[in-house]
Amino acid sequence: MIETDTITHGAEQITFFIARSHQRKTACITVYPSGEVKLSVPARTSPVQARHFVEQKAGWVVKKLKEFETRGCRDSSKKYVDGEVFLFLGKEYALKISQGNGPIVTLGDRTLNVIVPDPANMRSVRVAVFRWYWFQAEMFLREAVATYARMLGVPTPVYKVKNQSKRWGSCTGRNLLNFNLKIAMAPMAQLEYVAAHEVCHVRVKDHSPRYWALLRSIMPDSDARKKALKLDGWKYEL
Ligand SMILES: [Zn+2]
Repeated sequence: MIETDTITHGAEQITFFIARSHQRKTACITVYPSGEVKLSVPARTSPVQARHFVEQKAGWVVKKLKEFETRGCRDSSKKYVDGEVFLFLGKEYALKISQGNGPIVTLGDRTLNVIVPDPANMRSVRVAVFRWYWFQAEMFLREAVATYARMLGVPTPVYKVKNQSKRWGSCTGRNLLNFNLKIAMAPMAQLEYVAAHEVCHVRVKDHSPRYWALLRSIMPDSDARKKALKLDGWKYEL
């Protein structure tokens, strides 16, 4: 369970989540470009102490949040217009929309080329782009899921790629895996992490120490990949 709280600073509200650690001796606040605010505190910090700390730093937090906002980091919703940047496997491509018999989507060196009968129809561009990402996610995940299943010695699980807003992946009680198609926007290392993470749930359903040990056994740098996905995930919007 994630512990969150909200304080008010002038006209602004600051919602933060609390990360407790036994190693930590002092409190520290991190503001992410996504607008998330993390308060890292020693394990036995009370909720009142936690609030108090955020209140003391509220001016700085609000300033940071505004900086990220004006840099446009938080507005990651796509408009599907010519020249708009799309991430694919961690690399940036400019959307290039042209008129013709379509929909056809191809990847150039620096461009994501979309051919549709009516380029002014943003919906048709969007549908074409979604389908393309879906196909790519499906293809790259197939390879990754098979690889990690083999490493774990379990049968390759059945999986589906879906357009879901929150989670990167999930595993049902019957070992059916679901993946978010937007994971195709992430660098391969993060896509592989999500695949390995869900495949490990075939063996262990929870996030117990046994689970993380199993994941590390097939992906020694999984912690770093997890952290990178957590930091960059907000950019993967379609
Ligand atoms: Zn999990």
